[in-house]
Amino acid sequence: MTKAKKPVEPLVEVPACPFATTVSPLDYGDIITVKANKDTSTREFRIHEGLLTHFSGYFRGALKNHWIEGQAKIIQMDVEEVVLEMFYCWLYSKKLYFSSPKGDADADIPLDFEDIVDAYIFADVQVIPQFGNATLDLLFQKVTQRWKFPWWVLDVTYEKTTEYSKLRQFLVNNAADAYNFGGMRENKHCYPRDFLVDVIERLKDQSIYPGQRADKDGDKYVQQQCKGMCKYHDHSNLEKVGAPTND
Ligand SMILES: [Zn+2]
Repeated sequence: MTKAKKPVEPLVEVPACPFATTVSPLDYGDIITVKANKDTSTREFRIHEGLLTHFSGYFRGALKNHWIEGQAKIIQMDVEEVVLEMFYCWLYSKKLYFSSPKGDADADIPLDFEDIVDAYIFADVQVIPQFGNATLDLLFQKVTQRWKFPWWVLDVTYEKTTEYSKLRQFLVNNAADAYNFGGMRENKHCYPRDFLVDVIERLKDQSIYPGQRADKDGDKYVQQQCKGMCKYHDHSNLEKVGAPTND
């Protein structure tokens, strides 16, 4: 990106998704133990079954079909602890992390770009669309706060998602709109060919040069993107809150 900014900016506020749903605490039900199997983590997360089955297609299937181990209700997952921690925080608070007791808006997001992208991929695989939407909102906030395009997450993104992925779409649009591709030659091995094709198509469609949108007026661009984050969300099977069902 081209605009000079302070290293840490206040977080931009992304409007709440009008399709977001909640679970009544009366429907929380039993406790399930979820363990992260990747790395050497032995950490266990004790999570209410009603939250898991409400938000995740994977957990709906796993808990219905008794794939869980024994009476203790334990599910082992091939995932990093940091991702499971984000999921746990989000289930109970709709936030992916806690930076300070007051939720200080000026604090840096204590998660790497890689963690956020891993969480999106986890949401994609385990069919947790609303959690995936939250990871994209956070990725946008992090990109904006650091004013940096995370080219180093492109490889994993293009390896682990499909061409219809909203994560791909977000990264392609952000790169085309707001990134000047400085230093690209030194890191050229980090740019998947499909990503470059996607970016060129976006530039052609929009008749813009790389970074043009943010070049013109960075703050205005950020505000516009903020309001439009829903276009990257997966709203399947969700109804807009307060709207007729055929909306
Ligand atoms: Zn939305």
